[in-house]
Amino acid sequence: MTRTTKQNGTVYLVGAGPGDLGLVTLRAKECIENADVIVYDHLANPEMISWARNDAEIIYAGKEPGENRTQQEINALLIDKAREGKQVVRLKGGDPFVFGRGAEEAQAIADAGIAFEVVPGITSAIAGPAYAGIPMTHRAHNSHVTFFTGHEDPAKAESAIDYAALAKLGGTQVMLMGVERLGSITSKMLEQGVRSDLPVALVRSATTGQQETLTGTLEDIAQKAVASDFKAPAVAVFGEVVGLRHSLNWYEKRPLSGKRIVVTRTRKQASVLSNKLRALGAHVIELPTIRIEPPSDLREFAELVQDTHIYDWIVFTSANGVEAFFDVFFKLYDDAREIGGARIAAIGPATAQRVKDFHLHVDLQPEEFVAEAVLREFKKQGSIENLRILLVRAEKARDVLPKELSALGAIVDEAFAYRTVPETRDTSGARRQLAQDGADLITFTSSSTVENFLALGLPWPKGMQVASIGPITSKTARDHGLKIDIEAQRHDIGGLVQAVRQFFTKESAGKQSG
Ligand code: SAH
Repeated sequence: MTRTTKQNGTVYLVGAGPGDLGLVTLRAKECIENADVIVYDHLANPEMISWARNDAEIIYAGKEPGENRTQQEINALLIDKAREGKQVVRLKGGDPFVFGRGAEEAQAIADAGIAFEVVPGITSAIAGPAYAGIPMTHRAHNSHVTFFTGHEDPAKAESAIDYAALAKLGGTQVMLMGVERLGSITSKMLEQGVRSDLPVALVRSATTGQQETLTGTLEDIAQKAVASDFKAPAVAVFGEVVGLRHSLNWYEKRPLSGKRIVVTRTRKQASVLSNKLRALGAHVIELPTIRIEPPSDLREFAELVQDTHIYDWIVFTSANGVEAFFDVFFKLYDDAREIGGARIAAIGPATAQRVKDFHLHVDLQPEEFVAEAVLREFKKQGSIENLRILLVRAEKARDVLPKELSALGAIVDEAFAYRTVPETRDTSGARRQLAQDGADLITFTSSSTVENFLALGLPWPKGMQVASIGPITSKTARDHGLKIDIEAQRHDIGGLVQAVRQFFTKESAGKQSG
């Protein structure tokens, strides 16, 4: 028995939090990064899947009409995978042990003699109200909180919810599930003598870019929910604390609240832009369109890297190029001084930053993120005639730079550091999300992101507008028939975010006055 347990994998019942990626625990992230198999359901934010290893097996367990696996099937799946010796992560929305059948899964796993661990998560029962500006407790209003479910085991003949007890208990009461049965629930509460003007709030898709809150009283909330077609998943809060939302509603007031924005970048790079947009309240759909791969001729690249000491200048055109360069460089050399005396130019602040990360000084950093600006800066430096320049760049990048540098008399070698290829997988479910729910805006951070996005051939979501990082990217987009709604004035991520923010601030100001 002990032997088989040893060979078996472990099942991690992991809380995925309520939706906002920032509300996932470090432990949850670590489990996802290490997992062989991940089984998730529709309440878990699918972007977490991008933390998984490339070779991890990702299984969507459904729990949406038509896609259901039965609970038994899910239990069996977890157990089978663990018996194959796999490390299995079972990602569950919110906290794994707050409703939603996590306890039953744990029991089945324990009964099968499989080792398991539980990683608690932030439950929607607490995060939902918090993001709606409703504290669970307030000294002046209540001294206890009750969680209950509005949706019970259909096998139960009678309701197990003791409405009489709930009514007597008072305090803050939070209901999960069962928004669609709100009418019968509130009338039972009223029957039990709960006052009809008790404040009630419903928070749907809490902590995501689609969060919506509806407030009312015990008497009118059910009818208001029907009138506004208020859908699940939602938490309902009953109690005086709901009134505090008046002054504490913070989340829904952020500048990009309610905006769905597509970020098209490689997985690794997307996070900076995504995080900045999220911090302003946007719901970000990270759509990986490209992937960085080693260059077609890695050997040739390595030879050029090996010879860097013979150059007068090294020119980096992208952060990816910097990374690819030093990746190879430190495989060849274990002494940073081998780089020699070359001066370093970096196009754009992100590229320069990546160079600085390697503790190297950037001698020339054109302010604008366009190749033409580099030439201008070089010209300012005086003659570059007969200087040897190593240009580290992507395969199939624009030709302007090497040609013009050669025209100024420099001896230019191009080092093809990496290659971008279309990302054809949809492991995070982002494409499905985009197709289902659409988006308000798509961001393009380079010509290749435009080309690669269009190459995916996805249908254009209705009303989706376009933001571009600068004129070259915009031109590429226009050449492909797109209309540019936003163009950043500063051609870097910060500049793009600022432009997006201004655009939506103006738009909402326009709406308010109009
Ligand atoms: N374990 C989960 C709850 C699972 S039961 C948790 O701790 O949050 C599913 C119910 O949770 C839904 O019907 C809804 O009431 C609530 N829920 C989950 N995520 C939610 C969200 N982002 N916004 C509002 N309610 C949510």
